[in-house]
Amino acid sequence: MSSGLASSRQCRVIRPVLFSQTSKRSNAAAGGRWGSRGSSPATIAARLTYDNVERRFGNTLAVRGVSLDVEPGEIVCLLGPSGCGKTTLLRLTAGLERPTGGRILINDSVVGSPQSHVPPERRGVGLMFQDFALFPHLTLLENITFGLKALPREDARKVGQSALERVGLARYADEYPHILSGGEQQRVALARAIAPRPGVLMMDEPFSGLDTRMRDEMREETLAILKETRATCMLVTHSCEEAMRMGNRIAMMRQGKLLQAGTAEEIYHAPANIHAARMFSDLNELAVVAKGGKADTPFGKCDAKDLANGQNAVACIRQRDVQVVPVSKGRAGRVLATRFLGDTALLEIGTEGLEESLYARVRESHAKQPGTDVGVKVNPADILVFPAVSEGEEDA
Ligand code: ATP
Repeated sequence: MSSGLASSRQCRVIRPVLFSQTSKRSNAAAGGRWGSRGSSPATIAARLTYDNVERRFGNTLAVRGVSLDVEPGEIVCLLGPSGCGKTTLLRLTAGLERPTGGRILINDSVVGSPQSHVPPERRGVGLMFQDFALFPHLTLLENITFGLKALPREDARKVGQSALERVGLARYADEYPHILSGGEQQRVALARAIAPRPGVLMMDEPFSGLDTRMRDEMREETLAILKETRATCMLVTHSCEEAMRMGNRIAMMRQGKLLQAGTAEEIYHAPANIHAARMFSDLNELAVVAKGGKADTPFGKCDAKDLANGQNAVACIRQRDVQVVPVSKGRAGRVLATRFLGDTALLEIGTEGLEESLYARVRESHAKQPGTDVGVKVNPADILVFPAVSEGEEDA
């Protein structure tokens, strides 16, 4: 089993919480260039292309042969475990690092390769990091106009004021960052990132320092602003739920490589390999052997058509696909432990014919007490079969 009670994650889509309205009147007073929510001026969204991009640091290959096309105005969430190369890919895009192989193109022009390097200030790429990094000795307005040096002073002030207006903080323009809450500082950081109207915006775990409620608000506010400005966006996250909520597509990385890119539905229903499946769902994993394009499991034969005869494989059963039914209607099982997780509960079930426990995620109202005898059912069509992973690959 890959996952137990302690390691359980949840990937679910939650409806947006909206906040922060900016009045048209106050916006007009501030110069009127940004407008209230829904009317921020559009930037010219750029196409972003990674062509076999590589970045090596000594013996570490942080990014290995990444190829990906991001459409103008698209939001792609980069999802992957710590150290898999997400930040490095963002830094390469912004021009803070130089590729050791391959090419990065913006609107089909090479901006980064081992041979050529367009400096960060000439790429039209905005950056927003998790730690906000506002200058403490500058007012909020000065924090924003700092990045608008190319504009005449008065124009920069108007753009900065409008950007603050857009995130509902214009009244604090002349205050210093320390008086703001974490969420408000993050909104200033967002205003600062979008003020120069970048065609491409890189966001590195922008919400990770916020509490749950503030995170929800910031996600929705950011989505609204991204849609208004039409900036092409790459957003790094560790959270599957955040990637599903924010991204038009999700790009999954592991060990510097791009595992798979697609919509949340595509990856959920057809993960390219066991690593992508593990990142997206909590799985029960059973060792099986492929035979004649099928794999035999205690729940019936399932599809293994891509595997060779006799090949060792792993049958993956999502925790939510394990059905807990009356004893007579499924394979015999006994609940060994129950963990309540709010709307759902996670049951650990000893199941006939399986050496290890099976984990089932059920609606909280369907939870059973430990010691309860149950039936266990899984639809073989819901089982995903992948080649067995070697030990080295598992650990790496
Ligand atoms: P996290 O989610 O923890 O931020 P990440 O996916 O963003 O991780 P990166 O920060 O891109 O991962 O790092 C990828 C690998 O490259 C790591 O092994 C890291 O130690 C290494 N690395 C990154 N920057 C450098 C550097 N400047 N010098 C040497 N190694 C580096």
